[in-house]
Amino acid sequence: MTDTSPPATLLSVVIPCYNEEAVVRESYSRMVAAFSTFDGVEYELIFVDDGSRDDTGTILHALQAADPRVRVLSFSRNFGHQMAVTAGLEHAAGDAVVIIDADLQDPPEVIGEMLERWRQGVQVAYGRRTERQGEAPFKRWTAKAFYRLVNRISDIPIPLDTGDFRLMDRQAVDALLAMPERDRFVRGMVAWIGFRQEAVPYRREARFAGTTKYPLFKMLRFATDGILSFSLVPLRLASWIGFLAAALALVGILYALFMRLLTEVWVPGWTLLFIALLFIGGVQLLFLGIFGEYLGRIYGEVKRRPLYLVKERLGFPQDDGEAPPPGRRGR
Ligand code: UDP
Ligand code: MG
Repeated sequence: MTDTSPPATLLSVVIPCYNEEAVVRESYSRMVAAFSTFDGVEYELIFVDDGSRDDTGTILHALQAADPRVRVLSFSRNFGHQMAVTAGLEHAAGDAVVIIDADLQDPPEVIGEMLERWRQGVQVAYGRRTERQGEAPFKRWTAKAFYRLVNRISDIPIPLDTGDFRLMDRQAVDALLAMPERDRFVRGMVAWIGFRQEAVPYRREARFAGTTKYPLFKMLRFATDGILSFSLVPLRLASWIGFLAAALALVGILYALFMRLLTEVWVPGWTLLFIALLFIGGVQLLFLGIFGEYLGRIYGEVKRRPLYLVKERLGFPQDDGEAPPPGRRGR
């Protein structure tokens, strides 16, 4: 700790935790063991307790009492994974910051490789999953399809098969924190900021213990955020499909006119009329829904509520708990 040669770099590690009593101890020890092999690196472990209702909080308190490098940030309720990541980044003091899941699906040892890249000048070293262990085929398949869809329709390329496991340098972190939006799809936002980014391939392991905190409903919500925050294509679909429907209608009109004026047969109307009615009605409702999604997001932004509320901070330099949340920078 007291080596005097080159100044140690400070690495901040952000670990979002939601009901992770079964894993936090183990992740703490795996990380400490892995980081002890990194030369010239001091680190702080920022556990963000995202309103856990199990014993996560108690365990984190104990870890903090035993190790001053542990910092604990507790939310007043569950604000979601992306908010927990954001809060961790906001409280990180490091020259480089790593985001890693609590469940050891992202092996802490890979951070060594990320640090290596960082020393070579890479500003964002993001983990790319070459394999996913112990996850249901449905999850693997939907995740794969989702990353490809988002990449396809978003205005900026978002790396495929990449979660939030990544190392960012100070400049990149500050750039990210300058983005005040509420619907935070962190991996997309990191792609948006630019700088020098490189992929670090790794094998995503099975969860060490416990179950996923991303049930289907949360996954869907997360996927919607990813798509709607990074693409206007769903809005444009309205014009395209509207145009298509109008073109179809025109063909129908011409056909009916043709039959009426030039032949003896009259187009029998009911069925066609009814189908057209249903079609147009359905399309209109669908797009009202899509407009509503964007509108709801604008409403959310306009309210300017804080992104999360901190109940307690522990172990951060120059505070001893109960300090008010620092509030978002630049607001
Ligand atoms: N998480 C969180 N808040 C939530 C849901 C999840 O902080 O509302 C954390 C969770 O504790 C874990 C990480 O986010 O450290 C990823 O969640 P999980 O492993 O359950 O998702 P999966 O890997 O199954 O996609
Ligand atoms: Mg996981």
